[in-house]
Formats: sequence, C-alpha cells, structure tokens
Amino acid sequence: MEVTVAGPWPTLPVLPSPAAHQVVDSGLAAELAYALGGPFHFLLPDAFAANLVAMQDVLTGAGVDGFVYYAKKANKAAVFVERAATGGAGVDVSSTAELREALGHGVRGEHLMVTGPAKDPALLRLAITHSATIAVDALDELDRIISLALTGRVRPARVLLRAMSDTQPHSRFGMSDSELNTALERCLRAGDAIRMEGFSFHLSGYALQPRADLAARLIDRCLKARVMGLEASRISIGGGLPISYADARSWHTFLEAHHPAHYHAGKTFRSDGFYPYHSPVAGADALAALLATRPEGSESPLSELLGDAGIELLLEPGRALLDRAGATVFRIQGVKDRDGYQILTVDGTSLSLSEQWFNSEYLPDPQLIPQERDAPTGVFPASIGAATCLESDMLTWRKIAFPHPPRIGDLLLYPNTAGYQMDSNESPFHDLPLPPKVVIDRTDRARPRWRLDRHFT
Ligand SMILES: *Cc1c(COP(=O)(O)O)cnc(C)c1O
Repeated sequence: MEVTVAGPWPTLPVLPSPAAHQVVDSGLAAELAYALGGPFHFLLPDAFAANLVAMQDVLTGAGVDGFVYYAKKANKAAVFVERAATGGAGVDVSSTAELREALGHGVRGEHLMVTGPAKDPALLRLAITHSATIAVDALDELDRIISLALTGRVRPARVLLRAMSDTQPHSRFGMSDSELNTALERCLRAGDAIRMEGFSFHLSGYALQPRADLAARLIDRCLKARVMGLEASRISIGGGLPISYADARSWHTFLEAHHPAHYHAGKTFRSDGFYPYHSPVAGADALAALLATRPEGSESPLSELLGDAGIELLLEPGRALLDRAGATVFRIQGVKDRDGYQILTVDGTSLSLSEQWFNSEYLPDPQLIPQERDAPTGVFPASIGAATCLESDMLTWRKIAFPHPPRIGDLLLYPNTAGYQMDSNESPFHDLPLPPKVVIDRTDRARPRWRLDRHFT
C-alpha cells in the first residue's frame, strides 16, 4: 500500500555510523536474526573505546588532570565494563550487583565510584573493602560509612560529598550548603577512618554553564576544606554530556514539521519531553566546551581554576561513552492496514526501547532492512507495535515513511540504542526471552566478527 499525503512526512535520519552499516551491508544482521530467532542488540565496543579516548584526549589537551568513570547504569553489557577497564577508565556503580559486575570484569576497586542515594550497608562495606570512592548523598549515610570504617578496621573509607545545586533546589539528591558544613566537621572528627577526597554533583539537563558554576564553587569548597586539614583534591561533575543522534537541520525541521496526525491514534508528545536529539556541542566536544567555560564571577575558564587549585576532575559519563556503540534489531512479524498507513508488529516489546516509559518516544528513524534487495521504492508510512497484548505497547507511534513496502520477515534496525534504550527497562514480559546482546568487535575486517556478550546458562 503506497500512500501519498499533502506535506512532507517528518523524518529524523541519524548521523552515519559506518560500523553499524557494515553489520547490515555484510548480511550479518540478517544472519544473526536467523540464528538467534528473535530480536537482538548488537554492540560496537570499538565506538565506546573511541569515545573514551576522545574524552581523555580533551582532558590532556586542556592540561587538566582528570579521570573518567563509565556510568554503568546506561547499559548492562559486560563488554563496555571490560573496555572501560582496558581503556584506563573507572566505572560508576550504584548497587552491589553493579559493583560485583565491575570487579568481575576487570575494574580495580580503587577505580570504582559508588553513587546513588541511601546505599545499603552491604554495598558500603564492599566499597570500603575495595577502596572504591563513595559519593556520599546524605548525613546519615556518612554516619553509616564512618561507623563501618571504624568497626571494620580494614582501611579508611574514601568519600566525596555530593552537593545539591542552587539551580535544581528540588532534587532529591545531594546535600545543602549547611549539610555539607556539618559533613566536613564529621569527616574531620572521624580522623583516619575517612579520607575526604572532595565533592561531587550530578545535574539533570545538559546545560554547561550551571555545571561550570557549581564546579567552581566546589573548587572553592575544596580550598576551604584543605585549610581545615582535609585532603579535598578531587571534584566529580557527574554525567550529562549530551550526544547528537541527528544533525541540527534534521532535528529542527522535525520539530517544526511533526503533528499529531503523524502519529498512530493521533498520539501527542510534548516537544520539550523529547531528548534533545541534536546538541550544538556533544560528547567530548561538550567536555572541551565545559572546560573552556568561565564560571560566573570568574575571569578564568574552568580548566585553569582546576589547575591553579591542583584539583583532579572526575566525570561519570554514561550516554556519551555509548554514542554509536550499538543498535537493536527486530523482525517484522505482522503487517496490517489502517486508514492511510500500516501497523507493523515486531517480535519484541518497547521494554527493549526504553524511551516510551518516560512518556516520550525514541525518535531516530528506524531503518527497514528488506529481505528482497530489489524491493520497490516509494513512501510507505507505518507505525510499529510490539508483540504484546497491551494497546500502549508501541515501539514507534510515529508513522515512519519507509522507502520500501514493509513485509513480514523484514528486519527493523533501531539505531544508536546503546545509551539507555536497550535494557534499562527490559523484562521478560509475556515470558518472552530478553533479546541477547551480540558483540561485534572487529568492524575493521571485511566481514565483522561476533560473539555473545556473555555465555548464557
Ligand atoms: C545517571 C548518572 C550518570 C550518567 O549520566 P549520563 O547522562 O548518562 O552521562 C552519572 N552520574 C550519576 C550520579 C548518575 O546518576
């Protein structure tokens, strides 16, 4: 069924990913779909490694002493933890299971950063035993850490004190100015049980100026804490480096063009609820821009303030390290006609594409991989539903203008899903198995090689 409508169908083509294209063009994606018999994620760890090197190079280039921790919550795969370890990065974890995973996949305990609110005693004990850095979220947590470190008599607990931001006064994370003052007193009193290494924050949103401003305030706080006799030599600026899925023009054209009529059932999404699929500076460039930002009231850029104060900059990127490091492939198992478009049903659920669960939609255009290489061309709009009995379980409400008629057995590739999309919300709903993760680790060869991320039992 070919459809022509007045006005253009909004599209959001992704920036090119040669490694992902190679997986499709070499026929490997189709072969894996056949072999695995269901949806799967493929991972491109070389992209992760390149993103990591780019960030480390930015730190070096700006003359900043720094260290990158990969925020593990953005993807559950083992291979990214392994690449973090071999690439000279640490890992940011928030649970005992994540900590165990990181240690088990080769990260040294002292290269772990433990974040998250109200960490349970087992996690804190493990963190202290392995000399991980703990980002302390609250005063009662600090008290627990101090008593664990005192009674454990193993080694001092390494802590950062997590600060709240003036710009996000309703955040449930971090400590206020007066709580931080109390925390400093308690660290001092704890003596050798605690190594107060500095401060941390993690802001939501992607703006650079508030991050630079808060970093500068925490540099000041470090200088004052040193006068008290504390170590205070590091600050962590958390995550939140944005990435660009699409170019500027595509993104702005999309935002202007899209309309409820372009979505199945006239579904509406708030434009400000979408991830910003394009950012003027992204990834390592955003880090460079942050280091070059002059905090409010300062004559010098952040990089110089850090150097002058002799402070190490820590960062905890998740999404930005995973840019173009993976994609998700479904098979079309049903095609039905609606008025002027079609509904495709794929062999998986939107739980493997997490954006829907934030009342939003993952907008980068999925790519149709037809079985027939000479499939006819035209404009074939279709929305994409899951193989579940829930009306709302749609992978894509938007009617995607496919260039070929979608057919049963064709594949659909959702691009650039490694950062948060793949597995944050995955569950074996309807007793459907979770899509396996396939590591493609030699995309420089004519034919890429693959293996499973872990051996399933
Ligand atoms: C989620 C989180 C991160 C990672 O954020 P990204 O936006 O993926 O870079 C880093 N630090 C903390 C404390 C977090 O909660």
